[in-house]
Amino acid sequence: MSRLQLRLVAIAAVLLVAAAPLFLDPFSVTLANYIGIYALVALGLVLITGVGGMVSFGQASFMGIAAYSTAWASALMDYSPWFGLLLALVLTGLVATILGAVTLRLQGHFLSLSTIAWGLAIYFLFGNVDGLGHFNGIPSIPPITIGSFALISSERIYYLIWAVLIAAMLLSHNLLNSREGRAMRALRGGDAMVESVGVNAFRIKLITFVISALLAALSGWLYAHMGRFVSPTPFDVTRGIEYLMMAMVGGSGYLLGAVVGAALITLLKDWVQDFLPLVAPNAAGQLEIVVFSALFILFLQYARDGIVPFVAKFLPQVRRERPRAVEPLPRRTQPEPGQTLLKVDNAKRAFGGLMAVNDVSFEVRSGEILGLIGPNGAGKSTMFNLITGALPATGGKVVFTSSDITNEPQRLIARAGVARTFQHVKLRPKMTLLDNVLLGTYARTQSGFFKGALGLDRAEEEQARHEAMMQLERVGLGDRPFELAGNLPLGNQRILEIARALAADPILLVLDEPAAGLRRQEKLALAKLLRSLRDDENLTILLVEHDMEFVMGLVNRIVVMEFGSKISEGEPSTVRNDARVQEAYLGGVA
Ligand code: ADP
Ligand code: MG
Repeated sequence: MSRLQLRLVAIAAVLLVAAAPLFLDPFSVTLANYIGIYALVALGLVLITGVGGMVSFGQASFMGIAAYSTAWASALMDYSPWFGLLLALVLTGLVATILGAVTLRLQGHFLSLSTIAWGLAIYFLFGNVDGLGHFNGIPSIPPITIGSFALISSERIYYLIWAVLIAAMLLSHNLLNSREGRAMRALRGGDAMVESVGVNAFRIKLITFVISALLAALSGWLYAHMGRFVSPTPFDVTRGIEYLMMAMVGGSGYLLGAVVGAALITLLKDWVQDFLPLVAPNAAGQLEIVVFSALFILFLQYARDGIVPFVAKFLPQVRRERPRAVEPLPRRTQPEPGQTLLKVDNAKRAFGGLMAVNDVSFEVRSGEILGLIGPNGAGKSTMFNLITGALPATGGKVVFTSSDITNEPQRLIARAGVARTFQHVKLRPKMTLLDNVLLGTYARTQSGFFKGALGLDRAEEEQARHEAMMQLERVGLGDRPFELAGNLPLGNQRILEIARALAADPILLVLDEPAAGLRRQEKLALAKLLRSLRDDENLTILLVEHDMEFVMGLVNRIVVMEFGSKISEGEPSTVRNDARVQEAYLGGVA
């Protein structure tokens, strides 16, 4: 299927949504309104949970803050519902920013647990604050008016709800395909990699969290003015769980999943509520929970990723266009060869009582390839982590292009021009090769969340895509840019990491065992690539590698570590003949 065909399908869907009230009965229109309102909350959950990997049970409370804000403003204080909207967005945004700033540094389950805690707290707040109607709620909320046109009936507010939902989906779609959106998608799987390409992971998490809260706020505003009444019950944590279930059932990794999940669960609930009293007049309430649990278990068994990806398997794939050749992104000027580029001075790193790096000093000169070798556990990877800022040093100093970068945040070191790969490959297996490499261009591009969502980043995005494609081609992975990274053999995943690092246009390339898992031919190709990077582009490379043949034929100089200390340094031939090295590293054979 081509992009044009996809657009036509999307337009047809929008037309169908627009025409629906003409042929639906009033009750169905009301149901459709609820679906739209719930889908907005679920859309926020797709972003925060499905995309960002942070499970939130607290979205109903954001919806509640907004609903109560607008109810207070319009029903009790007589302001316009539009002022209510402003107040709702500001208050919800503020609360989400504060909660996010406090809790988003928590890892894994703690974050989710904290969302339950504040969900409960906010629910009781609604019920107990004087002036908000306690548990009886606030009645007589006025309808939204556009000019003198009051959205008083289900049919009228239907259009507003679905227009807001469709706009939110379009903006989210643009955002996810932009620079910051890629960083959002890369959050799953840990901060180390995203920070290594210059992303402030905490900032991205916080903004994603606030966006998801604002979507819930929009939903709460619409909810309050549709039902014209608010009480604490619909903003309870159990509702928060229901929204999460909607996103999961629909497919939490997909924007459409929000709508599909909201529709399915709303319709199912409606049907179950009609049907169960017929079979079990006295126990319908309890049975409802049983029926839903059973259905949820079935769902987990057969369509764990949600309905959207399950159905999408049977639909034609959308053809994706390879990046076009455009004006390349600006590049740095590499320093003159032969200068001191990186200076490591008495670096130390302890893990408990173990000195993984113990007083190691060496220099990397611009334009050279320096090999760091040593037996397993010698401290090589730890040394790399100190240089790139992935780990704080216990002592010593690291200077890069004459600035002290010791214990600087990883992303700032990356932005200064140090790009790295990891010994244990850190890719995003469910993102394409192209997207993985595009992550590398993060620090070279600027478009923020607004530009991305509004689609104003297209020119820069094309440049970044072109750059990523060139790097893929250069490392020999240019034939299938839309393959998922997880489908590559491990050796090629390492090569993909090199392409990502090169996309950052680094001054210093730091490679941790790049040739591990490669076949002989592939190793030769890699050596050729690294040589050409040094000889043709003056790029400086620091690498750890175990294959002696590979190292000896490639590097200008070698530093040897053992038990955390440097035991030798020099040109390959000198190091090869060093008795200590032979004993320690080569077991006296070489
Ligand atoms: P190499 O890369 O040379 O094989 P590493 O730098 O990975 O060695 O490890 C050096 C030593 O530090 C090893 O003894 C290893 O077990 C220890 N080490 C590395 N990382 C950690 C960590 N995060 N926590 C505790 N010990 C660690
Ligand atoms: Mg290592």
